[in-house]
Amino acid sequence: MTTKTKYIFVTGGVTSSLGKGIIAASLAKLLQAQGYKTTIQKLDPYINVDPGTLNPYEHGECYVTDDGAETDLDLGHYERFLNVPTSQANNVTTGRIYQNVIERERRGEFLGKTVQVVPHITDEIKHRIQILGNSGDYDIVITEIGGTVGDIESLPYVEAVRQLKWDLGENNAIVIHLTLVPFLSAAGELKTKPTQHSVKTLMESGVQADILVCRTEHELPSDLRRKLALFCNVREEAIIQSIDASTIYDVPNLMLEQGLDKVVLKKLALKSDTPDLTKWNKFLELHKNPKSEITIGLIGKYVELQDSYKSILEAFIHAGAENEVKVNVESVHSEYLNEDNIKMKLSHLDGVLVAPGFGERGIEGKIDAIKFVRENNIPFLGICLGMQMAVIEFCRNVLGLKDANSTEMDPKTSNPVIDIMEDQKNITDMGGTMRLGAWDCHIEKESIAYDVYQSQDIKERHRHRYEFNSDYKEKIEAAGLKTTGYNPETKLVEIVENPSHPWFVAVQYHPEYKSTVANPHPLFVAFVKASLKHHNTK
Ligand code: GLN
Repeated sequence: MTTKTKYIFVTGGVTSSLGKGIIAASLAKLLQAQGYKTTIQKLDPYINVDPGTLNPYEHGECYVTDDGAETDLDLGHYERFLNVPTSQANNVTTGRIYQNVIERERRGEFLGKTVQVVPHITDEIKHRIQILGNSGDYDIVITEIGGTVGDIESLPYVEAVRQLKWDLGENNAIVIHLTLVPFLSAAGELKTKPTQHSVKTLMESGVQADILVCRTEHELPSDLRRKLALFCNVREEAIIQSIDASTIYDVPNLMLEQGLDKVVLKKLALKSDTPDLTKWNKFLELHKNPKSEITIGLIGKYVELQDSYKSILEAFIHAGAENEVKVNVESVHSEYLNEDNIKMKLSHLDGVLVAPGFGERGIEGKIDAIKFVRENNIPFLGICLGMQMAVIEFCRNVLGLKDANSTEMDPKTSNPVIDIMEDQKNITDMGGTMRLGAWDCHIEKESIAYDVYQSQDIKERHRHRYEFNSDYKEKIEAAGLKTTGYNPETKLVEIVENPSHPWFVAVQYHPEYKSTVANPHPLFVAFVKASLKHHNTK
């Protein structure tokens, strides 16, 4: 076993939704900014093999990596903060752990032994944690354990952390416990008891937290820090306050002020330096001091859920800073859009994005919206299902193919302008079987896409089963909707544009997954720029 790579485990206590992912990403940013090659991994205690089959009501957005893993949305935060791609190894669920162990059992690899949670499941968890460390690519691996300590389903993970801490030895593995210090307004006081209890719960499993990160709405006074330190076996300097921030991008600086990186590096016996956050702070400055403001409509069927289009919302923040403009994203529920209310709901918008999605619900609203923006010269970006709907809208309203549809929505349509991909036809398993991950796209020179990317060959991430039906390509192009990007091997259409419109671009892939603070996605940057231009000429 290598002890070269150092491990940091992040557990959560008291309640879920405390923002473990943001704390892990912020710490990783601080470590990366002082020269440590750092990656973050998320272990999710649910039985699904991956979150790809979970709908956004259950789990928010499904994030997709270059290597085609369907993952937890926290991986999006990791990439946005670190600007380093993640992979399949960065997200592991209980389902995948069990699947692996059971497959090995069926192959007879356990030589007749009884297969048990300890040691077989915990060994598999330990192996998964160390895959990234043993790759030799990282100095530090941060492993975020999903859920809350005390949950039945988290127990094998906490046990694996206990064992690993012991195996790796002192200074090689530490545990950061993220907890809540609530404010009781009736008593006018911050309360430490829930934290004391959750640290105790962790200790019942043999794990002593090294650092406490305390989520709070108010400053933690020093007597309270002393109290927490005393009751929780943690040094006072290792009590880190995490106060509510106006933007998640402030959290690295807040953690720096609290000295989180310093305590972490001290406990790992690593040298600490002043992190170089010049670029990061430049972004923050632009983000917080916009010169103007625009409103972009986000049309989807999950818009009431703040996590379902996470990467799109974050990509607008990056692209807004780049353009020195505040992008207000106005959610428009596609299910409630129709010809009668479309003008009232969309005409004030500076740009419109039609979101990715699956299934029939809300698609007619999306099609009506695309017709409206096409006819009214409002900048438009369609993503995945949004691109497919743009093709359908054009075929119905310009080509006059009234029943044009996707076979996903109407398998019997006589004009399947969007159709299932050939290699998807015989697939029956739903998990991990879409066209996933990064694929090549070749771009025509005469196009907005080429101006945007400044390159003819790009790679973008995908997640779909249906595609532009090439049988209709000639007809569609002749009527004015151009295909300007395609996969060089399969010729699958990746980008469509409408040159008679100021800025109408729709893509089969998901540009939002690749937008980071350091590299705002050029397509979002250009879309925001076009929307700003539209705003200024209104
Ligand atoms: N449902 C469409 C397909 O499978 C679009 C998918 C998406 O928007 N991610 O092709």
